[in-house]
Amino acid sequence: MTEQKKLQPLQAVKGMNDILPPESARWEWLEAKMRSVLQRYGYQNVRTPIVEPTALFVRGIGEVTDIVEKEMYAFEDRADKHGQAEHLALRPEMTAGVVRAMTEHSFLRDSGRRLYYFGPMFRREKPQKGRYRQFHQMGVEALGFAGPDVDAEVILMGSRLLRELGLVDGEHFTLELNCLGEVAERRAHREALIAHLEQHKELLDEDSQRRLYTNPLRVLDTKNPALQEMANAAPKLLDFLGEASLAHFMGVRAILDAAGVAYRINPRLVRGLDYYNLTVFEWVTDKLGSQGTVCGGGRYDGLIEQLGGKPAPAVGFGMGFERMLLLLEEVGVAPDAPVPDAYAIVPSAQGLAQVMVALEALRAEGVAVVMHPGQSSMKSQFKKADGSGARVALIFGEDELAQGLVAIKPLRDAQAQQVTRPLADVTSWAHELRNA
Ligand code: ATP
Ligand code: MG
Repeated sequence: MTEQKKLQPLQAVKGMNDILPPESARWEWLEAKMRSVLQRYGYQNVRTPIVEPTALFVRGIGEVTDIVEKEMYAFEDRADKHGQAEHLALRPEMTAGVVRAMTEHSFLRDSGRRLYYFGPMFRREKPQKGRYRQFHQMGVEALGFAGPDVDAEVILMGSRLLRELGLVDGEHFTLELNCLGEVAERRAHREALIAHLEQHKELLDEDSQRRLYTNPLRVLDTKNPALQEMANAAPKLLDFLGEASLAHFMGVRAILDAAGVAYRINPRLVRGLDYYNLTVFEWVTDKLGSQGTVCGGGRYDGLIEQLGGKPAPAVGFGMGFERMLLLLEEVGVAPDAPVPDAYAIVPSAQGLAQVMVALEALRAEGVAVVMHPGQSSMKSQFKKADGSGARVALIFGEDELAQGLVAIKPLRDAQAQQVTRPLADVTSWAHELRNA
């Protein structure tokens, strides 16, 4: 006899979550809310591969960033028959992929594009509440528009979305805004900043020491509390902006002011990715600890050219799905769980085909009806009907079926009477079942 070895059940990868009912219903609800807003602004859906060449992110996001240095799931694929192996990565964000796709398919040749996406992203971070290794984003990219009107448009769209979800500006979230200017302005600021950081070198942690010369702006993006004072006193990029950048910034602000969208100017807002210029913004909340950024974005006029496309301006944002759901839960915004209109109780296997044909006819009329699967006692079928949340039970008893009828029993309204209806003509009464 060979010894049977008990197989251990496998588990999901650390930091990667299953999204199961009833939680998944909240995801669908949020997605539908987002789509409704996006479509009102004329944004169109794009879907790009999860796996891209590693070089896309190295070139797009920047070599000296947390994402590329430490967080990317990058690997060498198997060699092909010539012994060549491709360097591939799971996407840590989607802007670079969208830009690649638009360039590859010459989508920006004739006009700009307003796009949105949903999907999983991957970063090898320390998992915690609101920070995962597979997480999900909804994002928008408006490509080929120089702004500031389109900068303001994407901000208005994000703001509308938050408000339509029931979140209250100033109470549940704040919009932070900054202008990063252009390359020459950042270079002048950079010199002043490096000088400032050199004066406080002994304060800098290992990461910051290393970035002092490679990416000093990112030193200010630190979450290290010991560095806050030094970062607050650092030279501000806003003071180095020229006329054109300031005009752009004022253009965005004038529209937001006119539309009554509140914002706080945060001169230290630089964002984690290298490709931004001019307008940058984040929606932050104090309800999620250090995972307080629910949405971040900005203008990235250099990226398309950086990725080998014909130069074109662009602006967009990425919104974290998990963080949005956590925030909504935190402040008590809960969507109604979807419930069926009716639950079908089938006392015996006799006439099952007739029952299922009737249920099909009801579904064709738009009724959401869940059938009790298999046979079980009436008691347990009624228990399931109750638990389903349906307003009525359809009882396909043998006597009713013999007469071509179904009994409709109200489950929620004690005053309402049980009625019978003819199966031959569901169109005449199906509307009675649909929830208002
Ligand atoms: P953070 O500063 O919190 O690390 P980030 O600047 O790296 O965020 P972006 O690259 O701008 O984030 O991504 C856009 C949005 O995606 C964030 O505002 C956040 O809501 C969400 N997000 C980013 N990383 C994660 C993650 N690891 N888990 C869950 N959500 C995330
Ligand atoms: Mg990050």
